[in-house]
Amino acid sequence: MEVRGLTDLQPFHHRFQNEQACLEAVIAMKWPNGFVCPRCEHTGCSRLNSRRVPLFECGRCKHQTSALVGTIFEGTRLPLLKWFMALDLFLLPDGISALRLSQAIAVTYKTAWLVLHKIRHAVGEFDARELLYGEVKVNSDQYGRNPSRFEVVHPHASVVVAGCTVNESGEPQQVKLELVPQKRGSDKRAARRELTAFIDEHVDRLLSEVQLFSQAFRLYTPLRNIVREAWKLLKSTYGPLGQKHLQAYLNEYTGRRWLRMSETEESMGQKLLQMCMAIPGISYRQLITRQPKQSLAAVA
Ligand SMILES: [Zn+2]
Repeated sequence: MEVRGLTDLQPFHHRFQNEQACLEAVIAMKWPNGFVCPRCEHTGCSRLNSRRVPLFECGRCKHQTSALVGTIFEGTRLPLLKWFMALDLFLLPDGISALRLSQAIAVTYKTAWLVLHKIRHAVGEFDARELLYGEVKVNSDQYGRNPSRFEVVHPHASVVVAGCTVNESGEPQQVKLELVPQKRGSDKRAARRELTAFIDEHVDRLLSEVQLFSQAFRLYTPLRNIVREAWKLLKSTYGPLGQKHLQAYLNEYTGRRWLRMSETEESMGQKLLQMCMAIPGISYRQLITRQPKQSLAAVA
């Protein structure tokens, strides 16, 4: 397949050369030990190859299913090869905008926008299940504050709670960034109950020792630097982001950061595919009607 406009998107290695290879990769990940019927758990099946995506028919209850059911790829009309290219491009250090993706894989802007949001959704939902544990640092911080300008007040900065695990050298490992809704402006801070709600939702308390930093002048600097880096990077890739999808983009940032800590490019790609296979897709309608995140403290 001819791919246009990719010359400036190196390094970029296709692990999969054609549609068939992508399909087999998806089937192998769905059923690593061979087919299991989702209805009756029988393992015998016949494979029906007459469709674009092969169907598997259970040998006992005759239920038909495909490897794409229950994944972000379910119901897609886009060739898996294009999805797989999008997954590789998503993993570039800076990510990729919908406009550039649309050029890179030759689809409309709307399709590229939807593909990226579906991947982002899978990464965010998957990551939400993984609690922080061990030595955990939590900051009350601000997203969108320009540290190079000596302005006293940044009216558009959004209050966030940031948390991370640290390794033995004190470097942040897994990171989570959570917007505190309806709190904007650099004079605002997360309240105690918002910090507690973050810890309740994202930290395994039994296995953790949590250190909380809630005062501006003594935040945990390595974590603060990550919040600034997230802002700079998201701004340069996507331009200004509204509140509606901002939490999803923050999840994308922390998810990609975590994925990129994988040992090899291949294991990074496999982990991302695993996320996309484990999370059912979000529809276009759900995306456009999505409300900005509800207050954690209000939900808790
Ligand atoms: Zn069955």
